[in-house]
Amino acid sequence: MARVYNFSAGPAVLPEEVLASCAAEMLDYNGSGMSVMEMSHRSKVYDDIIKEAEADLRRLMDIPDNYKVLFLQGGASQQFAMIPMNLMKNKKAAYVITGEWSKKAYQEARIYGEAVAVASSADENFSYIPDCSDLDIPADADYLYICENNTIYGTKHKQLPNTKGHILISDVSSCFLSEPVDVTKYGIIYGGVQKNIGPAGVTIVIIREDLIPDECLPGTPTMLKYKTHEAAGSMYNTPPAYGIYVCGKVFKWLLKNGGLKAMKEHNEKKAAILYDYLDESKLFKGTVRKEDRSLMNVCFNTGSKELDDKFVKESKAAGLDNLKGYRTVGGMRASIYNAMPLAGVEKLVEFMRKFEENNS
Ligand SMILES: *Cc1c(COP(=O)(O)O)cnc(C)c1O
Repeated sequence: MARVYNFSAGPAVLPEEVLASCAAEMLDYNGSGMSVMEMSHRSKVYDDIIKEAEADLRRLMDIPDNYKVLFLQGGASQQFAMIPMNLMKNKKAAYVITGEWSKKAYQEARIYGEAVAVASSADENFSYIPDCSDLDIPADADYLYICENNTIYGTKHKQLPNTKGHILISDVSSCFLSEPVDVTKYGIIYGGVQKNIGPAGVTIVIIREDLIPDECLPGTPTMLKYKTHEAAGSMYNTPPAYGIYVCGKVFKWLLKNGGLKAMKEHNEKKAAILYDYLDESKLFKGTVRKEDRSLMNVCFNTGSKELDDKFVKESKAAGLDNLKGYRTVGGMRASIYNAMPLAGVEKLVEFMRKFEENNS
């Protein structure tokens, strides 16, 4: 077995222990005589799996009873449409633009109403988080939308915006379960699980109960109404059954390893090793304003396209895979999600030191 250190932004590294457990249960889940992939989502066995997954997630995030947990499909991108279709009653909403994903969400919302960009960091290629302490949010805006961790640019809202009484909606795809959060501060927290939780195909939406409308914008398909999924316990149609099962295992892995507080410490430790080195290196530079640096996605470059390409090629050969940055940023990006072991980050920094020695 030759597993690499996988720095992919998503789908991304999963805990080895979880993968091994899935493998062990592949042919016969818990005496059922079949794989979870093969069983009816209406069976008692599967019902236990999804209920336990939800209960474990609630424990992990300390989700209050007046919030619903929905396991959906369509990726985080489908939420870009579902959110306005379900919540844009006044046909107006405020968006903070901090990268590709919030831009896409903003553009999608414009199909359904007036989306107002109340802040943006486009002027410096999204290398920072704009000041959100005093945003000019229209009084009749239905919500304020942010992308909390910007996977592509490696920035993170360290402080939630001053919403001035508006509902806060946050895309946490790439920082889901990376640290404790206060769920009560949000109307909706959602994300695709393929960054920091599980396999692609599951989107988790945590939504305050009273925000689930009976009436959506005219023409909203049944499948795109939160109500449909809430009323059916995420079982209106076939849910992404196997993916939810893997997510459930990751929740248990997190609980066993001390929960989100411990995960935050682990993530801070990993990120510090990498950022400290970037700050002292003469060859590599971080691309993000220091106070806005993400714990999950670390972007850096050498300033030379040739050297960047060489680094990506040589690091891959050394068992450090998927370090190429996104095309709009260039350079390198190390995604160091929950499941990336400390040893992986240490090995990366050791490799960077050697590369710097050999190339300066
Ligand atoms: C990857 C990503 C998305 C898009 O997710 P899909 O599940 O592919 O639609 C949206 N937002 C953020 C922050 C992401 O990292």
